[in-house]
Amino acid sequence: MYQIRLCLLLFLSTIFSLQAQQPKKLNSSEIYEAVQKLNVLGSVLYIAAHPDDENTRLISYMSNEVKARTAYLSLTRGDGGQNLIGPEIRELLGVIRTQELLGARRVDGGEQRFTRANDFGYSKHPDETLEIWNKDDVLSDVVWAIREFKPDIIINRFDHRTPGRTHGHHTSSAMLSMEAFDMANDASKYSSQLELTQTWQPQRLFFNTSWWFYGSQEKFEEADKSNMLSFDIGTFYSTKGSSNNELASLASSQHLSQGFGRLSQRGSQQEYIEFLKGEPLDDTNDFFAGIDTSWNRIKGGQAIETIMSEIENNFNFVNPSAHLPQLLEAYKLLHNLKDEHWKTIKTKELKTIIEACAGLYLEVSATRPHASPNSDVELKMEVLNRSNSKINLVSYNLSTLKNGISKNMELPTNQRLNFEEAITIPNNMAYTAPYWLNTQSTLGMYHVEHQDLIGLPETPRAVFVDFNLTIEGTPITITKPVVYRYSKPDKGELYRPFEIIPEVSASISNEVFIFENDQQKEIEVTVKAGRDAIDGFVQMAYPNDWSVYPQKQKIEIANKGDIQKVVFTVIPPKGKSEGLITPMVNVNGEFYTDELIEIDYAHIPFQTVLMPSESKVVRLDIQKRGNNIGYIEGAGDVVPESLRQIGYSVTVIKPDEISPENLSNFDAIVVGIRAYNIVEELKFKQKFLLDYVKEGGNLVIQYNTNRRLKVDNLAPYELKLSRDRVTDENALVRILEPNHPILNFPNKITIQDFEGWVQERGLYFPNEWSEEFTPLLASNDKGETSKEGALLVAKYGKGNYIYTGLSFFREFPAGVSGAYRLFANLLSAGKEDKTQLKN
Ligand SMILES: [Zn+2]
Repeated sequence: MYQIRLCLLLFLSTIFSLQAQQPKKLNSSEIYEAVQKLNVLGSVLYIAAHPDDENTRLISYMSNEVKARTAYLSLTRGDGGQNLIGPEIRELLGVIRTQELLGARRVDGGEQRFTRANDFGYSKHPDETLEIWNKDDVLSDVVWAIREFKPDIIINRFDHRTPGRTHGHHTSSAMLSMEAFDMANDASKYSSQLELTQTWQPQRLFFNTSWWFYGSQEKFEEADKSNMLSFDIGTFYSTKGSSNNELASLASSQHLSQGFGRLSQRGSQQEYIEFLKGEPLDDTNDFFAGIDTSWNRIKGGQAIETIMSEIENNFNFVNPSAHLPQLLEAYKLLHNLKDEHWKTIKTKELKTIIEACAGLYLEVSATRPHASPNSDVELKMEVLNRSNSKINLVSYNLSTLKNGISKNMELPTNQRLNFEEAITIPNNMAYTAPYWLNTQSTLGMYHVEHQDLIGLPETPRAVFVDFNLTIEGTPITITKPVVYRYSKPDKGELYRPFEIIPEVSASISNEVFIFENDQQKEIEVTVKAGRDAIDGFVQMAYPNDWSVYPQKQKIEIANKGDIQKVVFTVIPPKGKSEGLITPMVNVNGEFYTDELIEIDYAHIPFQTVLMPSESKVVRLDIQKRGNNIGYIEGAGDVVPESLRQIGYSVTVIKPDEISPENLSNFDAIVVGIRAYNIVEELKFKQKFLLDYVKEGGNLVIQYNTNRRLKVDNLAPYELKLSRDRVTDENALVRILEPNHPILNFPNKITIQDFEGWVQERGLYFPNEWSEEFTPLLASNDKGETSKEGALLVAKYGKGNYIYTGLSFFREFPAGVSGAYRLFANLLSAGKEDKTQLKN
């Protein structure tokens, strides 16, 4: 039973994602294109590692010009990158990028698939990638994608033969594709999948090459292309009024969280694919050569082809409903097909065409955007036949009810019918949440319990309505998810998915609380009601050696959606310690420990995500000298807030405020990440910063990249930046100068201070420096030479110049205590004598 249900959901999910914002209604040209596409039975699977890796020109060409079923398998959801449009990172960024990919596919016509691989951040080599991912699990998911999607050809974005030349995830995607190509048809491989699907042999595997992989246009022109196919992907689609590459640019521009908004392109453009393995090519320049992509490839297809070709060749753009009798004839023939794979795909396509030709408007909107289990919701249905065809509404089935509701009424032409139903959300209904976040993940993998869900872009919607119709006597069921349709005076009509949320959720203001001494802090918890009349209490879970009071705080919230804030006092232990605090909301004896996070951007559908509500509390063993820190902002980091958490007074200095008088007020000046790459004014202010050091100041500069530096004199002495980085956050750190004051005052730094670091050690380390600099630390990734540029210190005049590529900006928000201790030492440099005098 479970299997059948999930198969149905699998089928539904793609319709719903099309309708995520505003339900798509096809016009005549789009119906015509859908008819053309219905007549092609070929499939292409494009494989790469991240959202934005995919070549949308090629995906759009395959989908719109070749009219093949085309999907992009992105091994990851892009969780590890940076977010240029908001605060979401990690899992939440993965949710945004998943939706951006779906947005891109709505534009280029492709479908979207994933594996369980977690984007853990930059990786230099596939060996490292495949060790952090569970290689066998990711390979299993690629095999699963091939067996489920059943592509005729596979196209890799990256070259499997050049490990180390690009991101390790990239090369891994191509290597896994190569392996999976040979495995998908082998029943002895991942055989448990075969309870749900069948083996499959793709016919050819290609690599989507370009001059970029050859270093230059010239080198690519000289390259041997005998094993390559090339085609012009600049096709102009008159039915769309758009060129293929214009569509592709629009699709890429959906990746807004990565800053991919771009100008459109059009006109002739060559694309290349290199044959890697499978059935040899013939001399026709056709990647499908020898593969039947017509209805003839399946038994019983010929009769459907006869009908559908007739429609395609004589399409009535003025009145597409004239084709309904033929379409319904084809629908009946489809129903009798033995080939379940194509039957499912083509039935779905044909239903969309029939619905559009009949001008059917079917919608179910809840009167509110969400509800919690066991609560009542009103649904408003709108049913409208905008054609002259004879259409009857026999009944409808609500997914939350056992029995259908009988209607037996004719839908008169263009006469709207409205129905209302009140439903109760079942007590055991799961909350709306991305399925891959339902259980604890590891650094390299998401955990997904049910094989059926693996690969799906989204969790299938649980609340939907089946409309059971007859169209000209032919029974046909059309399924619609429940949506929330509303309007805003300044925006017009809007849609949101209807969601199931918990009765209550709670959140804590910060993800990390740092305690620099044993003084207590007040921590605010916000409780949000998912239903009316919430009455209960909140208590905190906290580590043994910590204290929290009061034990309980009462909550009473009258209206759904309202919040109540309560404050707890958290007292750290005397010595260093760290752990988690979790607010637990008790309502009617039931504990709720999740935070409800809403992701609301105009370019993607509204998303709610449930995450465990918890904050890290860290009691540091830390000493500090100096208090007044000036901060010059770069590309943006949370270093100022982090330093404030440990008691520093931090003043952000605007570039035009950098003057000798102003700088002299501070005990130390910190420069934000990439400031010398993006702050134009530093060109003119660098002199003041270096003079500040000369006069006894303490300047700490965080990483910059070596491209497009705004200054020639980054340091008072020669210092050359490189691309050296240490991406393994656990890479051994060797202390080169154990007696150097910076590693001893006021905190004694040992290798224990490099435990528990996240994501990486650091990046863009200098690789050449003059003898005035002292390198303090060395580290390297596996198989690489020792990198000694992570932390460099030089005396200049009476002060200290410090350059560091260590990733403090990542470690601080993760509450890594050693990073705080080391940074306190950087800020205290040169303060030793004064302290001794005071003592
Ligand atoms: Zn990538």
